[in-house]
Amino acid sequence: MEHMTASPLTIRTFTSPVFGQNAYLASCEATGETVAIDPGGAAAAMAAALGEQGAELNAILLTHAHMDHIEGVADLTARFQAPVHLHPADLPLYDAATQQAAMFGHRIQAPPPPDGELSHGQVVQLGSCRLEVRHAPGHSPGHVILYGPEAEVAFVGDVVFAGSIGRTDLPGGSFDQLMASIREQVLTLPDETRLLPGHGPETTVQRERTTNPFIAPDHPGRHA
Ligand SMILES: [Zn+2]
Ligand SMILES: [Zn+2]
Repeated sequence: MEHMTASPLTIRTFTSPVFGQNAYLASCEATGETVAIDPGGAAAAMAAALGEQGAELNAILLTHAHMDHIEGVADLTARFQAPVHLHPADLPLYDAATQQAAMFGHRIQAPPPPDGELSHGQVVQLGSCRLEVRHAPGHSPGHVILYGPEAEVAFVGDVVFAGSIGRTDLPGGSFDQLMASIREQVLTLPDETRLLPGHGPETTVQRERTTNPFIAPDHPGRHA
């Protein structure tokens, strides 16, 4: 669960028991500044971890506004004074969070209105680390990737997974857009970049470039 490396960013993973969704706490080693990425069904555990650390939460960053990635926003914002940021193209999904949940027979607390936008090219400064925002639509219209060049890590949400890619059959999804996002925003990152996805285990750019059946040139490509 915890990665102890020389990385300037300490990253902890919190997986939702219901949807298998991965949320992350990313902290600058030097300053302790911390952001929560996609607080989902394990938000209480995230809050407990922050409490033990005696840490403030500097911001909540959302890769996209599907219900499983935002169901913990209300909980975290009730406990911490942390502004919520997301790409404006996912605002309609965000505003419909409780309806999204109802479609899955799930109930969640509506998140408060967002405080700020994430836009392509924007840089979120986290102590001595940066997180670059890369717009990567296709799974959802306002999906972004958060890339940390110093930490050699990218939070890729539901764009790409170890051995798979995000679904594109939900409202606003597009397979062609998703593949373009993967080519332009993921495969352009350095090979050794760790990819931390919204579901499942972490991987690397190189591993997905060479073995992901949807991406690798030697593989048949489009699965049914
Ligand atoms: Zn999603
Ligand atoms: Zn998801």
